[in-house]
Amino acid sequence: MAYRFLGESGLKVSEVVYGNWLTHGSQVENDTATACVRAALDAGITSFDTADVYADGVAESVLGAALRGEPRESLEIFTKVYFPVGRRGPNDTGLSRKHIREGIDGSLRRLGVDYVDLYQAHRFDHETPLEETIQAFADVVRQGKALYIGVSEWTEQELREGQELARQAGFRIVSNQPQYSMLWRVIESRVVPASRVVGISQIVWSPMAQGVLSGKYLPGQAPPAGSRATDDKGGDVMIKGYLRDEVLAAVQGLRPIADGLGITMPQLAIAWVLANDNVSAALVGATRPEQIAENVKALEVRLTPEVLIAIDHALGGPDSELIERDPARTKSPSHRLGGVR
Ligand code: NDP
Repeated sequence: MAYRFLGESGLKVSEVVYGNWLTHGSQVENDTATACVRAALDAGITSFDTADVYADGVAESVLGAALRGEPRESLEIFTKVYFPVGRRGPNDTGLSRKHIREGIDGSLRRLGVDYVDLYQAHRFDHETPLEETIQAFADVVRQGKALYIGVSEWTEQELREGQELARQAGFRIVSNQPQYSMLWRVIESRVVPASRVVGISQIVWSPMAQGVLSGKYLPGQAPPAGSRATDDKGGDVMIKGYLRDEVLAAVQGLRPIADGLGITMPQLAIAWVLANDNVSAALVGATRPEQIAENVKALEVRLTPEVLIAIDHALGGPDSELIERDPARTKSPSHRLGGVR
């Protein structure tokens, strides 16, 4: 396993992080979830990403149970706050002082730990003053409940303002968690340049476009049994946007590139995001231990500029309509649930 620093902090995270969105407490049974966590540990993964909202709190409990007994200092545990868990009251969403304070306590209880390594704003909250949010995060850090603070899907402007306020409050935002893959590049034009300036790195979600870049979904054919596209607990809805024949056909064009490098398509997809030096880690999901063993081998490959060009060519060239690049696609809900200002 290789490790990279998170932003300008002293915290190192594994280049592949195992994330449990849509899987633990939902698509996979608990014994499979535990087997995947064990496979991740065996492969040298030390960093694990979850969120309070995943499976309505259950994903944190399943991950916490699977990690129990591991030396705490050998793990980096990440979770998030913003979306409601269980209750849908007016203060159960967002980044108010109240929700952050109650959110961290709920996450620690479900995970069964005294602190998380990284606590992330799951989205930007347009209805809470940013000063209030940043002060609430500063309190969480001072109380020792989280060691580092990150955010997710923040725009370049939100990152700049948040970092300035965090600096004034005595801590740093170390990471942003955006979607990023060969097919979804919206962070490249604004978020990444701004992040470099303010000392934030990216830990990127869905690097395999939810499994689509593994090449297992074929145009004109039914999805393979047991895949996310067949998960009627919500995975099928989440992945739907990628399951278009023109996308799936182009993705098949990546296969000869992977073959030429002697690697698999999942490994190519993960190596691609890690080729961006503002990316600290690829957050990878898995429903089977074998997938994890395969995916971490991506770290043995470093893609050359020629390979990166060949990938772009296979996906339709630099202006391909199959690749989403619009920075406006980085966004957070404009309103929280259940409240009017
Ligand atoms: P990926 O793009 O890595 O997709 C993972 C899925 O692809 C797996 O669950 C599996 O699904 C399939 N897969 C994995 N490995 C292989 C393989 N070797 N061969 C074939 N199929 C494979 O990422 P996710 O979409 O799962 O997201 C990863 C993490 O990112 C999440 O767990 C979460 O931590 C984070 N995230 C954060 C968000 C945010 O808003 N901040 C939003 C979404 C995710 P299957 O077997 O079912 O086909």
